[in-house]
Amino acid sequence: MDLRILGCHGSDGVLDGSHGAQDCNTCGFLLNGTVLVDAGTVATKLPLKEQQQIRHILLSHLHFDHIKGLPTFADNISGDGASPVTVASLSDVITGLKAHIFNAAVYPDFFTIPTPNSPTLVSQMLDAGTTYGISGLEVTPILVNHTVPAVGFIVQDAASAFLYSGDTYLTDALWLKARQIPQLKAAFIECSYPNTHMELARISKHLTPSLLAQELKKLARPDIAIYAYHLKPAHKTQITRELKDLGLPNLMVLTEGQTITV
Ligand SMILES: [Zn+2]
Ligand SMILES: [Zn+2]
Repeated sequence: MDLRILGCHGSDGVLDGSHGAQDCNTCGFLLNGTVLVDAGTVATKLPLKEQQQIRHILLSHLHFDHIKGLPTFADNISGDGASPVTVASLSDVITGLKAHIFNAAVYPDFFTIPTPNSPTLVSQMLDAGTTYGISGLEVTPILVNHTVPAVGFIVQDAASAFLYSGDTYLTDALWLKARQIPQLKAAFIECSYPNTHMELARISKHLTPSLLAQELKKLARPDIAIYAYHLKPAHKTQITRELKDLGLPNLMVLTEGQTITV
C-alpha cells in the first residue's frame, strides 16, 4: 500500500524552517491513489486528474480539520460523469456532515446534486468493529477516545497492514486489535500537544509525547514503524524535541509530501 501524505498536522500554518518556509496542512492521506483517509487537505495538493481518481473517503470524525477539504473537492469533481465518490464513516459523522456542511446553506448538498439519482457524493455508514471491503482493502474502524464520536482505522491488504489513530486521548481497543495483526507494518498516531500542555490535551482529548509513549506500551509492537502526526504547528518544535527525547528508534515525525509504502 502506498500512502501519500497531503497533510498531517493538527492545523494549517506556515513555519520558519532551516530550509525556508515549511507548510503545515490538516490531515489527508491518499491511499493507493483511490482512497482518502480524512479530508482535511485534498484539492490544494492534488491536480484535478488525481482528485478524480479518488473513489472512497474515510472520515475519522467530524471535526473541521478532518473534513474541510471535502466541500471544494466535491465541487471540483461534480458533474465529471464518474460514479459517485463514497464518503464512509460513523452514522454520527455522516449525519453531522449533511446537517452542518452540505445543508444548502453553508454549502450545496453534493449528496443530491447534480441530480438525486446521480449525485457527486454518496454516504456509507460504518459500524465500529466491523471490517469492510473498500477499494480492494480491508478497513476496520475502531472507536477511540475523543471529544466527539471518532474512530481510528486498521487497513489491511494481503501483504501488510497499518493503523491510523485519528484524534484520540488514552484508548485501548485500537491498540489491542492492532497488536494481534502479524503483518502490521506501521502505525500513524496523533501527538497534538507538548508535555507542558497535558491539561489541554486531557480536556481536548489528544495525546502528548509522554502519553504517546504510554500508548505505545499497550500497542507493544517495537518491530513496526511509528509515525507521529497531527502535531499542532504552533508547538511543532517542542513536540518534535520531546518525541526525540523518548529515545525510541522506530518513532518518527511524519512529513508532508512524502509517500510511505507499507
Ligand atoms: Zn484533528
Ligand atoms: Zn478532533
